[in-house]
Parts: sequence; C-alpha cells; structure tokens
Amino acid sequence: MENIDLSWTGLQEKISKIRDSYPQNRQIWTTIHYAPITTKSIDKLISKGITLEVLENKFEKHEYGRYSSTSKKIFLEAGLDGYERDTTLFHELVHAWYGKDLYDNDIALFPDDNNAIAEWLARQLRSNHKLLRYAIMAFGLEPQIYDRASYMAFSQKTFDLDRQLCFSFAEGLYDYLKITLMD
Ligand SMILES: [Zn+2]
Repeated sequence: MENIDLSWTGLQEKISKIRDSYPQNRQIWTTIHYAPITTKSIDKLISKGITLEVLENKFEKHEYGRYSSTSKKIFLEAGLDGYERDTTLFHELVHAWYGKDLYDNDIALFPDDNNAIAEWLARQLRSNHKLLRYAIMAFGLEPQIYDRASYMAFSQKTFDLDRQLCFSFAEGLYDYLKITLMD
C-alpha cells in the first residue's frame, strides 16, 4: 500500500467524497457491511494459509506494507513504530480479507480510492482493543503500547487508566495513553 498521510478527519472527508461519487454501483460498501472483519475473519485468513513476513529495506518510499494474493503473504516493513506497524497490519489484513473487491494495485479499477477505503477501515479496526490484541498475537508480533487502544489490548495490570493515573507520581506521565490514535 501507499502510505496515506491524512488525518482522521481528512480521511473521513475523502471517504464521503468516494461514497458520493459512485454511491450505487460500488458493491464494496455492501460487502463491508455484510462481511466485517472480526476475530473470526483473522482465524479464517490464517486457516487459508495467510502468513506474515517482516522485511528490511524491501519497500518503496512511503510504503510500509503490502499484501500479495499470489504468495498469500502480508509483508510489513521492519522497524515500524507501534501505531504505524499496527495500522499497516490491519490495512493489509483488509486487503487480504476483501481480496479483488478492494485491490489497490495496477489491475484495480479504483486503486487510490480502494487504498483510502482500506486505510479508513484499518484505523477503525485497530482502535478496537480486542481485535488489536487478537491480530498481534495471531501473527506473532511483539505487543506495543502507545495509546488507549493498545494499552487496553496489552496492559497486564489494569484496564482502568483513570484509576492508575490518580497516583500523584503518575500525574501527566501517561496522559498520551488516554487517547486513541486515529491519525
Ligand atoms: Zn492499500
């Protein structure tokens, strides 16, 4: 995928433009509605033989990952930070799950739009802490904590951030964990 350098607001605007430009004749909205990505989808992808490989220096600039339907592989660039890595994983999972309905390569009818739709879905899916935990564990990646969703997914100690933050020594220290990243 081409990395999408848009804020969540910007991405939402782009998606509503895409929806408006061909509302009826794009099957993808129906497909997304009736076949959402859940933990069961991840099981299904794995049982179909989809694997993950982390690659070093194999990508174009502005590209963090790729899904290859021929080799049934999700490729991730090595060394990505938590949020980038996890969003990219979900982005490629979206491509794997919806297949040619949402390809963004040169044989696709709407490559840029499809890439934006994949990213829009990926960010929402990643913000679901249960799904995030499931996907990271399923593909054997190292858990990383960098926002509320990832904290909820992987903190061993408590699921109540506010309670933890009421200690005076922790005041302001973990405030960044109180938001869920979407940008
Ligand atoms: Zn893509």
